[in-house]
Amino acid sequence: MASSRVGNSNHSRSSEPFIIHIVIINTAWDVKAYAFPSHFCIERNRILSRAAQRQNPVNGSLELLPLCNMNCDMCYIRLNKKEVDEQGGLHNADAWIQLGKEMAQAGVLFLLLTGGEPLMFPEFQRLYKELKSMGMILTVNTNGTLLDEEWADFFGKYKPRRINITLYGSDDTAYEKLCHYPGGFSRTVRAIRLLRERGVDVKINGSVTKDNRDDMEAIYRIGRELDAPVHMDTYMLPGLHERNLSFEKQSEDAAAADIYMRQMETEPEAFLWYAQNILAQIEQENITYPDQITCLAGNCSFAISWKGDMRPCVTFDKPAVSVFEKSFEPAWKEISQEAKKLRVSEICVTCSLRPACKTCPASAYLETGSCDGVPEYLCRYTKEFVRLLREAVEQEQEAESNG
Ligand code: SF4
Ligand code: SF4
Ligand code: SF4
Repeated sequence: MASSRVGNSNHSRSSEPFIIHIVIINTAWDVKAYAFPSHFCIERNRILSRAAQRQNPVNGSLELLPLCNMNCDMCYIRLNKKEVDEQGGLHNADAWIQLGKEMAQAGVLFLLLTGGEPLMFPEFQRLYKELKSMGMILTVNTNGTLLDEEWADFFGKYKPRRINITLYGSDDTAYEKLCHYPGGFSRTVRAIRLLRERGVDVKINGSVTKDNRDDMEAIYRIGRELDAPVHMDTYMLPGLHERNLSFEKQSEDAAAADIYMRQMETEPEAFLWYAQNILAQIEQENITYPDQITCLAGNCSFAISWKGDMRPCVTFDKPAVSVFEKSFEPAWKEISQEAKKLRVSEICVTCSLRPACKTCPASAYLETGSCDGVPEYLCRYTKEFVRLLREAVEQEQEAESNG
């Protein structure tokens, strides 16, 4: 289930609004801050923050397989069976369970199961139950199209923290065009309904491209109807590197979609608070920002590919260390150390727009081929984003003064 690859964070309850995240660069770690956080969210952030200070791995993702029943145009991961076999084949459930035991011993608590389509992983249910019995708090990424009543009963019985389901459009035509999967939309909506009927928390994810920009409003509406929060990503790192979709070249459009996304996913007061906060940070003079990774990646968070390569986050293809060859703890130590060597450009260190910018060593690497390159697309995106934030604040102030 490949969607965009920004960030390592997830949310807890379907009733929890996806509010806004604020990158607090001057604090120790970029644990996302929410305007109206749930208790679970506060507690999770506390655990993540403390783990990052101690450099303990508590949060990770397992990409169980690159196989998928859909075939989306923008997919960066999907392989067919022959390609998987040529690259050494899948690791079986026993191998992942053994890894789960090593992870549990190292203190891993939050685990995301992803793919490809993880429900296609042989013995998924046995693996899931074993990981759960080790005390892991599980989240599952799925495209939802294979999730029938039987699967919904399973997740209703063995509840995950949440199931993330990606919506690629707002009707079956969009799915046929983008995912080459007729009926995909209806199947996905059915899955969300089945899960919600069983009290399973669902978050709808979306990635905005030029092909589905007009579907954003409809996707938010579907989320409201199904009682599932929606989050749309507007900045897709792999797109810059591997897919080169034209929408993603139009950074100004993506920035406008980003503003729209934030307005749809937050209360007006929270959006205004966010906008004013970011603009105030930008106004500060002579600030220097960190040149290292400031998020959780490599500090308390990791991603493991279907081949077993551990990386600081899904966005990096290196540094990478095989957990099946080295075992979990030594792999984590190496990845955590290597991640500290990754630096952004000196220009980004003193850039006044940094509080609004999504740059990090990974995004710079994907756009420029080097962690310390200056990602030009992201600069344009950020400039436009800040311009639109200013505009939104001015409009709000004008509206207030007009009563
Ligand atoms: S659902 Fe689409 S984007 Fe996700 S893994 Fe399958 S083919 Fe790729
Ligand atoms: S390193 Fe960059 S891409 Fe990776 S999780 Fe952190 S902010 Fe996101
Ligand atoms: S990527 Fe551009 S906008 Fe962002 S911090 Fe670096 S120089 Fe500034």
